[in-house]
Amino acid sequence: MTHPIAPLHQRPCGWNTQLTPRQCRQPAHGTLDAELVIVGAGYTGLAAAEAWAKEHPDDRVIILDSEAVGEGSPGRNSGFMLEVALADDASSAELERMSELNALSRKTMSRLRQRVEQHGIDCHLEHSGTYRAANTPAGISSLTDYRSFLEAAGLRYEHLSRSALNERIGTSYYAEGLYSPDCYLVQPAALVRGLADALPASVQLYEHSPANAVRANDKGWSVSTPDAEIRAPRVILANNAFSRALGADTSRLTAIYTYAAVTPVLPQTLREQIMPKSWGLLPAHRLGCTLRSTHDGRMLIRSCYSYEHEEDNSLIERSLAHSLARRYPELSGMNFESVWGGTTGLTHNGAPLWGEIKPGLYVSAGCNGGGVVKGTFLGDALARYASGQPVEPIHQLFGKASWMPPEPLRHLGFCLVSALEKRRAGGEA
Ligand SMILES: Cc1cc2nc3c(=O)[nH]c(=O)nc-3n(C[C@H](O)[C@H](O)[C@H](O)COP(=O)(O)OP(=O)(O)OC[C@H]3O[C@@H](n4cnc5c(N)ncnc54)[C@H](O)[C@@H]3O)c2cc1C
Repeated sequence: MTHPIAPLHQRPCGWNTQLTPRQCRQPAHGTLDAELVIVGAGYTGLAAAEAWAKEHPDDRVIILDSEAVGEGSPGRNSGFMLEVALADDASSAELERMSELNALSRKTMSRLRQRVEQHGIDCHLEHSGTYRAANTPAGISSLTDYRSFLEAAGLRYEHLSRSALNERIGTSYYAEGLYSPDCYLVQPAALVRGLADALPASVQLYEHSPANAVRANDKGWSVSTPDAEIRAPRVILANNAFSRALGADTSRLTAIYTYAAVTPVLPQTLREQIMPKSWGLLPAHRLGCTLRSTHDGRMLIRSCYSYEHEEDNSLIERSLAHSLARRYPELSGMNFESVWGGTTGLTHNGAPLWGEIKPGLYVSAGCNGGGVVKGTFLGDALARYASGQPVEPIHQLFGKASWMPPEPLRHLGFCLVSALEKRRAGGEA
């Protein structure tokens, strides 16, 4: 299987469309030299650039992105910034490791918040917490496991009945839920644009500049784009699953697409009923739907997955509309304002692909569905590692990405597992 160099999206990013147009940086051109080249201006790449510049303020750092910042994958997510480990990663059997991970997430989140405040990034960052809710036996069983983990880890939460949930989020669809205060909500395209615009002066960002090859040379590495050749002793691949086309281990990483849609601003009466306050809801089952309100009174829904390619967005639109109407019959028949797909980098066991691939060539990828905070931490840690500074024991804390069988077995495995999970998830989807 050949891996594409960079993502191509069928439709514009709905979050980015809501913002005023931004002046993009020029594409890379000619022959350039730097101390560090970073491929990918997402949360991982931006954090790596920031960390390197902090330690080496006189070094020239070049960061390349294949798209306009805000329009690509980092701007396409649902904007949940978790201060504790993802529910899928939570393990009551490993409380010490989990509490270290939670401490790292909180510290990273707090730094991100400071950066937002320091640079006045207008991204509607709000400490709203998050709900997790279920309406099927499989979903309730995942919720019960997560509740046991929260108890064991001493994390704050509230257990909510159907009617308590209905009061807060205006739907009686869910049988039960949990509310955890350890989460922020953000407008992700505004966040990533703001972070990119706040990079230190020593970091040069080039947009619309896909890295199409990384080759070793006598000075280290040479990264080529359609119009430029950039030489540097070190390269960090921070372009998630697309790092596979540039030298990252293809046997441990897969690209999974997932999809979101946003309604127009809801009428005031509906807003009072459904979103008396800002809220976000993550699915109890991983194939379930994410829902959230936006700062200006829209409803966002995220669901559906596809393997290594973007599914026809009009089919997805129908499925998302159906899922939303099941939860909120009063929204049935309402056309979405935007529907879009985005990529995540998936590893089989949820551990990141992180470290040095060859001398001077590094990768951090595979945050699955939760890379805003986690990617920021891992990108920062990778830049520190590449510059020889002490770093947290990443593989001990996060694990090592496990091996997956080659194609076509891998695709077959994905189809089988997702069909089984879909059956189990039933009404959570
Ligand atoms: C619909 C959706 C909802 C999600 N919801 C959430 C959520 O609520 N919370 C959360 O934490 N996570 C969420 N995620 C996952 C999250 O977006 C990712 O985990 C996170 O963006 C990973 O950050 P990253 O910087 O490692 O990679 P990415 O965000 O994928 O960034 C990689 C960057 O590299 C660029 N790139 C790719 N190839 C090349 C190349 N060859 N040359 C140059 N540049 C290249 C891309 O354009 C991109 O800008 C969601 C994802 C999707 C798709």
